[in-house]
Amino acid sequence: MTWGQVDQRPRPESEWLRTPAEHLRIVDEPLWRRVQSRRKDTEGRAVRFESGRMSGRPPKSVSVNLLAGLATCALCGGGLIVETSSGKRGRVPEYVCHRRRANGTCSNALRMPVADMNEAVLQAVEEHALTPEAIELVILLSERDEAADRQATLARERKDVEKRIARLVAAKS
Ligand SMILES: [Zn+2]
Repeated sequence: MTWGQVDQRPRPESEWLRTPAEHLRIVDEPLWRRVQSRRKDTEGRAVRFESGRMSGRPPKSVSVNLLAGLATCALCGGGLIVETSSGKRGRVPEYVCHRRRANGTCSNALRMPVADMNEAVLQAVEEHALTPEAIELVILLSERDEAADRQATLARERKDVEKRIARLVAAKS
């Protein structure tokens, strides 16, 4: 053991003393329980590596209207809405231009099956945004931001110290 070092080891959980401390509680009990059950819900569905590839897509039930209110019509810029049409394949939800549907002011007659479009978008997201390289870049950029923040703080402190020194020098003379 080096001088001054204390040999600290975490105690096993069975030896822990637990004391309820209401004043230290950050979230209340019901919320905590909800968070826990929500976490159990999403476990296994969350982002994970699969043979080096990131895979994290919303569960099927939630992604039904993935792009509604988000995607826009290429012709008029209006929002896309989901409309269910009864075709040969049964009732199929499709993305259609909201302006064409509402008042016919757009000439875009395209009806894109929601499932096809969602699949294409999710695949593109997985390919381009969820690659290990892309994620590493995001981490790198945020670290760079932190370094810049630290640098700015140090620069401010330095100016402050310089001012104080200048004041001291002025007071002496
Ligand atoms: Zn349109």
